[in-house]
Amino acid sequence: MDRLPAPSRDDDLSDLAIALAVAERKGVVSGYEASEEERQAILQLYNDYDACGGLGGGVDFSDLDGDLLKTIKSGFGKTYVGGALNHIRDRLKASVTRCPICAIGAAKELDHYLAKTGFEVFAIYVRNLVPICHDCNNSKGTHGTDVPHERFIHAYFDDLPDEHLAVELSLNDGGLVTNFGVADLGPENAEMEQRIGFQIGRLKLSERWSDEVIIYMSAHETALEDAFEAEGADGVSAFLEKQAEKEERRFGKSSWRPVLLRALSIDEDFCDEGFRTVL
Ligand SMILES: [Zn+2]
Repeated sequence: MDRLPAPSRDDDLSDLAIALAVAERKGVVSGYEASEEERQAILQLYNDYDACGGLGGGVDFSDLDGDLLKTIKSGFGKTYVGGALNHIRDRLKASVTRCPICAIGAAKELDHYLAKTGFEVFAIYVRNLVPICHDCNNSKGTHGTDVPHERFIHAYFDDLPDEHLAVELSLNDGGLVTNFGVADLGPENAEMEQRIGFQIGRLKLSERWSDEVIIYMSAHETALEDAFEAEGADGVSAFLEKQAEKEERRFGKSSWRPVLLRALSIDEDFCDEGFRTVL
């Protein structure tokens, strides 16, 4: 899981104006004429959102007009291709290469960290919109909760401990079995540890990463063979360690790739020709 820089808020007011724009189509009037006071109240709620890092219970928007909220919510529809807010989607997607949650798929969809039903006021707020892949988005659904240990990691606001992912390996019957989970983060990070563990389970990340392992490792087959030919098991271990450093620079310390490579680099069976039977 990866931290992303929080998107710029420079366009908050103009985006809001586009979402609320009053228009008439086939005799039906849509939009909402918001007062200056209402616009400022929304900006203040955005500030509150930032201050509590997207914690739903930390904001109160019960004073806002129901039609105003409904219009903001439907304004999200304008972020799709051809819509007047499509620049939001383009800009957020352009800021990431892979899904910040799984690092498997491309981040092609926008997830409402706080669901647009229930938190309508944040439906087009850029810092509530996180580009993630279809599989993560689909599994997350509208999950939103104030139960502390079941809160999803917020890619823009949560500080993740550097090495938060661990993997257990076993080589048996010619196969490599992997089981990913949260690392022991110590008593000072107990809640974060529970949240990461919850997210791994909810999004079936261990299963999804495990499905990728053989495909990913097979791409290194020739390099593993060469390393073994040259320096035996030590050579394989050194190669895996070096590759882990590269992946770490690309995806971060706790991405499943470097975590896997490091675990394999200290697995004697794998390094000592075991790789030949599993790949
Ligand atoms: Zn994903």
